[in-house]
Amino acid sequence: MNIIKNLILGSGPAGLTAAIYSSRSNLEPVLLSGNEPGGQLTVTSLVENFPGFENGILGPELMNSMREQAINVGTKIIDDTAISVDFSKKPFVVSTERNGELYAHTIIISTGASAKWLGLEGEKRLMGKGVSGCATCDGAFFKEKVVAVVGGGDSAMEDSLFVSKFASKVYLIHRRDEFRASKIMQDRVKDNPKIEIIFNSEIKDIIGEDKVVSIDIFNNKTGETKNVPLDGVFIAIGHTPNTSIFKSSIDIDDNGYIKVHDFTKTNIAGIFAAGDVSDPKYKQAISSAGMGCIASIDSLHFLEDNNLTQ
Ligand code: NAP
Repeated sequence: MNIIKNLILGSGPAGLTAAIYSSRSNLEPVLLSGNEPGGQLTVTSLVENFPGFENGILGPELMNSMREQAINVGTKIIDDTAISVDFSKKPFVVSTERNGELYAHTIIISTGASAKWLGLEGEKRLMGKGVSGCATCDGAFFKEKVVAVVGGGDSAMEDSLFVSKFASKVYLIHRRDEFRASKIMQDRVKDNPKIEIIFNSEIKDIIGEDKVVSIDIFNNKTGETKNVPLDGVFIAIGHTPNTSIFKSSIDIDDNGYIKVHDFTKTNIAGIFAAGDVSDPKYKQAISSAGMGCIASIDSLHFLEDNNLTQ
């Protein structure tokens, strides 16, 4: 049986940083890149807050560099996805979509988080026909069109600003009367003449047959609903941690995040978690990368303490 010393699940900043550190500790890590290789930064435009790039760097470029760096220092990357785990066995067992079972002495879970949706029927039906969860991917299709962005966090601010470069008008719809986004992002939105903010409002329906033609907006203060004609709706309401395959195997909190202590240790010795999958609070590329580094060092210590480094 081939036993991997350090198996890393996920290829965002946490997973790839862990891979770089583990490679340099001679742990010969194997990384499963998952179903969104590179993670959420691959659908972002300019990243201005990752240190080391004085003019910022495009998200996909940053992730590509991290992947190449991990490969260059010796990481084996398998473009496959974990579909189930058995953490009751030693070595731990991870079943993959295309490469059968993998066996590992330590595992770093860095499977990240995925975009949330409103759960409307029209949202599903019109996905890719005017409804999108990725402004940076689809914004350019809305040149001189009218669109809505939903949400009140930094993602919604960023998406509104991004699509305003193409659209003739952007409605920013938020369910409360204040944003949770950082002040600088809120200010940029408020200063943008193309963006109209609609507070205390929820989208109740997205209307259209083959493409989006309008939305029904419910004002939760006045109780009124109004129909607004438009061409596109961008959903930017946060993310859900990708933990469904771990739910019966590891301690998870009420919101689905893996519970950690001492930074990256889970309730199972030898299994570590890093990045958005275990971080409901900070969720930054740089904090994820930092946790990936810690998880790798913790893995090394676990392997050394258990005489498993050979
Ligand atoms: P977030 O901060 O969790 O914000 C989600 C927003 O969506 C909240 O305003 C929330 O409303 C709203 N929302 C959630 N569920 C909803 C629903 N069912 N219907 C309507 N609205 C709903 O998520 P995020 O904006 O994706 O940001 C996540 C993290 O990444 C944050 O830490 C953020 O700072 C960071 N981030 C940073 C940048 C940057 O620095 N450039 C860019 C993007 C993200 P409530 O406010 O009422 O809860």
